Amino acid sequence: MGRRRRRRKIITRRPSLPTVFQCPNCGAHALIIEIVQDKKKKERIAKIRCASCGLVHEEPVESPIIDRAVVYGRFIDKFYAGEIRVPEGEEEE
Ligand SMILES: [Zn+2]
Repeated sequence: MGRRRRRRKIITRRPSLPTVFQCPNCGAHALIIEIVQDKKKKERIAKIRCASCGLVHEEPVESPIIDRAVVYGRFIDKFYAGEIRVPEGEEEE
């Protein structure tokens, strides 16, 4: 009789794998959106930052159905509405 050895599957889960989006400020595909859980406040916060131009923005995620794509869409809306503070360009006057 053969012995059966079962291997346990190890599933590595990354709950907050950053996804890169296009930055509305500099146009580079370097905009990283991360949704992090604040355990103390029991709320989620979206952290948006561009690795290219240094644009940063944070906002609360009030609903569990909101994912990075939704955050990105709202971020774009806010950006064009002038609600996002754009970092000062260094080469700019
Ligand atoms: Zn940028």
